[in-house]
Amino acid sequence: MQKENCIFCKIANHEIPSHKVFENEEVLAFLDLSQVTKGHTLVIPKQHADNIYDLSSESAQAVFATVPEISRAIQQETGAAGMNLLSNTGKVAGQSVSHFHLHLIPRHDKHDGFGAKWEVHNEEYTADELATFAESIKNRL
Ligand code: AMP
Ligand code: ZN
Repeated sequence: MQKENCIFCKIANHEIPSHKVFENEEVLAFLDLSQVTKGHTLVIPKQHADNIYDLSSESAQAVFATVPEISRAIQQETGAAGMNLLSNTGKVAGQSVSHFHLHLIPRHDKHDGFGAKWEVHNEEYTADELATFAESIKNRL
């Protein structure tokens, strides 16, 4: 289902152009217009979902089923030493387009333009607290 005024729905529907790298019935992958590194690709479900919370299992399966092959093709083409897979969910996490998308960002070294600040707070949680927290999340599934 397409959402009105959604730029990625328009891309999925071929109403606006993209640099397409993969397409099947449910999924489209195309180059991000703002390339963090060369080959930076977005993989989207054609069916609109705002973000990961909203994504159906069917769309998730369809999207993620394509990711290893697309990743390998990008790696082979770019010679990347690594790759970051990233989905920003919500404004606070940096989401600017409200149609689920997975960024595939080829990585070369620490100074290639991509960075995610990553502070760990292990000392703030005891093993018991983590066990209780895991149980609480599990109970919601
Ligand atoms: P995010 O900030 O995670 O929501 O990522 C949205 C991404 O979509 C950004 O990296 C934009 O550069 C990219 N983007 C926005 N419009 C287009 C477009 N028309 N074609 C390709 N990429 C786009
Ligand atoms: Zn959409």
